Amino acid sequence: MHETHSSTPTPMPLADGRTLHFLGFDSAPTTGLLTRVAAEIDSAVAAVVSFWGDDWSREVVIAGADSAAQFTAWTRWPSGPQWVDVAAAAVADTVDPARRIATGQRMVFAPGAARMSDAALRIVLRHELLHYATRADTALDAPRWLAEGVADFVGRPAAPKPGPAAADTLAQLPAEADFNGVGSAQSLAYDRAWWFARFIADRYGTATLKQLYIRAGGAAHLNSAAALRDVLGVEEGQLFSVWRRWLAR
Ligand SMILES: [Zn+2]
Repeated sequence: MHETHSSTPTPMPLADGRTLHFLGFDSAPTTGLLTRVAAEIDSAVAAVVSFWGDDWSREVVIAGADSAAQFTAWTRWPSGPQWVDVAAAAVADTVDPARRIATGQRMVFAPGAARMSDAALRIVLRHELLHYATRADTALDAPRWLAEGVADFVGRPAAPKPGPAAADTLAQLPAEADFNGVGSAQSLAYDRAWWFARFIADRYGTATLKQLYIRAGGAAHLNSAAALRDVLGVEEGQLFSVWRRWLAR
């Protein structure tokens, strides 16, 4: 009998002074994923810092689950088939946005993440890292169009605007429940949120998008309509018609 000896990889210093800690990643194929995450992490941190700024956790914990059981244990999500499409999740043990404290933060990669293309891994890593960086400033009831739209704004590369045929479909904010759908219904929710964040950044600047994140999703946040009015000085209905025209052009 041959016994393999595995151990958790040693922490990795990041270019901007943070430290990356690994959890798991000690069995195939997660060791290959670790190498790819390590190669992408500095540019992911830079993308997050350029949008959100520097004021977030100096310690970053990334876990690589090699089984569905390990993924649900580390995320503490209920086990079940609903996570089959999930590549990674950013979670915390406790969050206190009023005091800007999040404990036990970790980004957990699912077993299937090892099969992602490099381009898909880059998007997932940046998206989840944005959740990680904003966690302590995000209310537990922050609207998901905002949290997911901004995470995708940082995570996804720019794409040409969809044009008139798709503008009517895209130009509405997804409801909370839309993000719990499956397949194309869920993708549409993410796309709508992403396009809204891109629209705000394009029309008002990325600093305003961040301001909107705090006003509509931070501790003691306003409701969505009031936050849009407060930050952008415009009523929802008028904003959405400008958004629709922007998408169509
Ligand atoms: Zn997300």
